[in-house]
Amino acid sequence: KSPHQMLGNRDQKAAMVSDIMLSSLKTVDDDDELKHLIEDIMQISDDSFYVGDVGELINSFKLWKKLLPNVTPYYAVKCNDELNIIKVLAALGCNFDCASQDELTRVLSCGVDPARIIFANPTKLRTHLIYAARHKVQLMTFDTEQELEKIKEHHPDAKLLVRIRSDAKVVTIQMGHKFGCTPENAMQLIDKAVKMGLRIVGIAFHVGTGCKEPEAFPRAIGLCAKILKEAKMKGIHLNTVDVGGGFPENEPDTFAKMAELLKGALEEQNDTFKGINMIAEPGRYFAGSTFKLYASIIGIRHNPDVTWYYINRGIIGAFNCVFSENLTRYPIPWKSRSDNLKPSLIWGPEEIQKDLLVKEILLPPLKDGDWLVFPTMGAYTVTLDPVNWLASSKPKVYYHVSKVDWDLVQEANGKSKEHLHLANFV
Ligand code: PLP
Repeated sequence: KSPHQMLGNRDQKAAMVSDIMLSSLKTVDDDDELKHLIEDIMQISDDSFYVGDVGELINSFKLWKKLLPNVTPYYAVKCNDELNIIKVLAALGCNFDCASQDELTRVLSCGVDPARIIFANPTKLRTHLIYAARHKVQLMTFDTEQELEKIKEHHPDAKLLVRIRSDAKVVTIQMGHKFGCTPENAMQLIDKAVKMGLRIVGIAFHVGTGCKEPEAFPRAIGLCAKILKEAKMKGIHLNTVDVGGGFPENEPDTFAKMAELLKGALEEQNDTFKGINMIAEPGRYFAGSTFKLYASIIGIRHNPDVTWYYINRGIIGAFNCVFSENLTRYPIPWKSRSDNLKPSLIWGPEEIQKDLLVKEILLPPLKDGDWLVFPTMGAYTVTLDPVNWLASSKPKVYYHVSKVDWDLVQEANGKSKEHLHLANFV
């Protein structure tokens, strides 16, 4: 067979496998079946790919509802803008946080009511504001006078949340150095918005992504309480507090602690928070553990003390966390063999020194073409993965779900106001 014919066959098979996984999402009920499907993909591809577990996403949503029933989540689309994530979350009743026109378009294209969206970017492009106004997306954040002027001109009907700075002490990426005004400045901005005839409805904060200090949430709630009281004394009745993102991926205990402290702080200040609509903007909490990345070994170098492995995804894209978050993602060999472990190191495919993905890891001897599985790869990865000079295209994304979970999504969708077209699950 010519290489072209072979490629044709490979592509055909790839399409078939993708159909199996997606035809109303291959409802995969047992682990062996899923394993075989994944091995089918490995046989037809030497490029990396993601596998999304819809059940995991549903579980994260259920846990949120159980531990924070009175805080409405607005999923931060920037974290992973896959349409399937948006559709499943929308069907379950989750709302959305968008940062740009493109994200607004994606969410609206799924049929989500604009009243379920917050445009949570304190520095918006004018054209994006105009787009939001035209599509009736009203809730949004701001943190400067300049932004108020812009909103007054292009979206005077918007409902505004003033974003304050309140940083966690232990965090992967701090945001307060860039966004969020001081609590003192917040009151001046609220006064200014009122004078300008704008609709100021509340306060927002973001403690930072990858927060490792649950106490950051009650501390920020304390700042919000002060502002709510001061505004009330001036006759300004705010009705919404947005506790932002920062909730962890794959760390249920830390999440439970955050939820407990958050609820505790709200109860303590019950008088101030009575009737306040509590919302949040979780990103990595939902997307992180929903996806695994499968990457294969494309090169090996045996050094005296350590074996170097080269894989087909690197720091530009899937593993940007290595420099942006100073975080190492550790893989598990697909065919796990725990014997004869050797000191190893993993490089990505890029021609830059920084493309060192894992500095130290013990791995069994692996061959060219063997696969590694990186768990918890859904946050700030898929969306940022570029068409790579080495790989032919963006990695493909496959999904699976159990029959029970898929029925649950459809049932929830049936009861929802929007009735999304889940049949178009892509
Ligand atoms: N909201 C805003 C305004 C953000 O900038 C981000 C992340 O950058 C998020 C929400 C999501 O944060 P996380 O993924 O930590 O939950």
